[in-house]
Amino acid sequence: MSAVKISIIGAGSAAFSLRLVSDLCKAKKLEGSMISLMDIDEGRLNAIYNLATKFVNEVGGNVRFEKTTDLERSVMDSDFVINTALVGGHRWMEENRKAGEKHGYYRGIDTQEFNMVSDYNTFTNYYQLKFFLDVARLIEKVAPNAWLLQTANPVFEGTTLIARETNIKVAGFCHGHHGVIRLVKALGIDPKDVDWQVAGFNHAIWLNRFKYRGENAYPLLDKWIEENASNWRPTNPFDDQLSPAAIDMYRFYGMLPVGDTVRNGSWKYHYDLETKKKWFGEPWGGADSELGWAWYNENLKIMTSIIADIAADPNLKILSIETYERLFEKYGLPKEMLSEAIEFVNPSEMSGEQHIPFINAIVNDEEQRLVLNIMNKGEIIKGIPEDVVVEVPVIVDKNGIRPEKIDPPLSKRVVKFYLYPRMVRMEMALEAFLTGDRKVLEEVLVRDPRTKSFEQVQAVIDEILDLPFNEEMKKHYRN
Ligand code: NAD
Repeated sequence: MSAVKISIIGAGSAAFSLRLVSDLCKAKKLEGSMISLMDIDEGRLNAIYNLATKFVNEVGGNVRFEKTTDLERSVMDSDFVINTALVGGHRWMEENRKAGEKHGYYRGIDTQEFNMVSDYNTFTNYYQLKFFLDVARLIEKVAPNAWLLQTANPVFEGTTLIARETNIKVAGFCHGHHGVIRLVKALGIDPKDVDWQVAGFNHAIWLNRFKYRGENAYPLLDKWIEENASNWRPTNPFDDQLSPAAIDMYRFYGMLPVGDTVRNGSWKYHYDLETKKKWFGEPWGGADSELGWAWYNENLKIMTSIIADIAADPNLKILSIETYERLFEKYGLPKEMLSEAIEFVNPSEMSGEQHIPFINAIVNDEEQRLVLNIMNKGEIIKGIPEDVVVEVPVIVDKNGIRPEKIDPPLSKRVVKFYLYPRMVRMEMALEAFLTGDRKVLEEVLVRDPRTKSFEQVQAVIDEILDLPFNEEMKKHYRN
C-alpha cells in the first residue's frame, strides 16, 4: 500500500473530481491517500468536499480529503497535481466569443482552422496559460518531485508551454481516444480483439493502426460506411465519431480522425449553422454550433444543480440510482443520459479518466497503457519538432513514461496538411502569450478566412481587450 498526496486544482468541477475520487476508492494499492481539493470558489469547494466525503463514507473507501482556497498549501509536498481549473469560467469564454461574433467572426476569434472546439481557446486564453505557468512554477518551488497532470484546456498549448518553460515532470491528459471504443462498438466487434494506436496532438489524433484479429480493420469501417452511413443520426451534439464530417476527413486524410479531432476539421464543415448540420447531423449541427453549445451549457447547468442538491441533502445517497432518477425527473432530463451522468456510481468499473491509473502505475509499478501528451523527444511522430507535445500511446510504470513506436506512421496528409498548420497556430498562441506582442494576435486574424479588412482585425481585438475582465490581458498586449 502506498499513500500519496494528490492536489486537484479547480476541484469545484464536481463531476470530474468525483470520477477521480471514485477511481481512487477502487485503487486498493493507493489506500490511505489524501486528496487536497483546491478551488477559489468556496461554494463549489464546500459542495465537492461534502460530496467526496459522502461518497467515501457510502462506499467505505480509505481516502482522506482536505479543502483549501490556498493554492500553495494544496500543492505543497504533493506527489501529483491535477490542474483542471478554468480561470474566469465559461462566462468569460462566452463573452469573448460574443465580441468576436459581433465583428464577423462566427463562433469567436478562437475558432480557427483545425481548432473549432468551443472550449479550446488559444488566443483569448491569456489567463489560462498564465495560470498554467504559475502552477508549474509553484510546483518547482514547493513540490519539485511532483508530477503535473495537465487537464485543463488548452492541453496542447499548455503542456507544450510548461514542458518548454519549466523543469517539472508534466503530461497532458484527455479522454479523446475513447472515440476508438465508440467506433469498435458501432462496428460490433470485440474490443479485446482490436489492436489500435492513435497519434497526433491533443484534439488532433488519428487512428494510424486499426487491426482486428491481426488483420487490417479499416475494410470493416468501409463496409459500415457503405451500409449504414446514410442512416446515421447523432444521439447528442458530441456524438460525431461516425458523422459525415468524420467520414469525409477519413476519405481525404486516409486515416480516421478520433474524438474531438472530428470537431476540428477545416472551415468546410463549419461555415455556418446549415453547413454544420449537414456534416454533424440534425438538429444541433455538432457541439460547436450555437445550438450544440447551448445544449451543452444547459446540461452543464442542470448537472451542477443535481450535484448541489446531493451535496446539500443528507438524505440523498450519492451511490443510489434512485437519487438520480428522482433528480433527472425533477430537472426534466432524458433517461438515456442517466448512465453517462452517474458513471462514478458504478463501484466496480473505472471511470475511463486516466489520472488514477497513471498514478497507480507510477507509484505501484503496475504497468499501464495510456494515451498521454508528452514532448516529441526522439521524434515519436516523425516530422514534428522534438520540443512540441504530441498525444500518443505510452506505457507507464515506476520508471515513468515510455512512448510506443508509432506504427504504421501517420499519413503524409495528416502530418503535412493537418498537424503542421495546427502546430503553427500553437506556436503563434505561445509567441503572443510569451512576448505580449499584439502584432502576433493581429497576424493570426489576418490569416483567418473570415477577415475582410485590417480594420476588422483591429476592431475585434480592441473590443475583446476592452471587456472589463480583460484589463490585465490588455496591459499584457499593450505593445
Ligand atoms: P468549470 O468552470 O465548471 O470548473 C472549473 C473550476 O475551476 C471552477 O470550480 C472554478 O471555480 C475553478 N477555478 C477558476 N479559477 C481558479 C483558480 N485561479 N484557482 C483554482 N480554481 C479555479 O469548468 P469545466 O467545464 O469543469 O472545465 C475545466 C477545464 O477542464 C476546462 O479547461 C476544460 O476545457 C477542461 N476539460 C478537460 C478535459 C480533458 O479531458 N482534458 C475534459 C473536460 C474539460
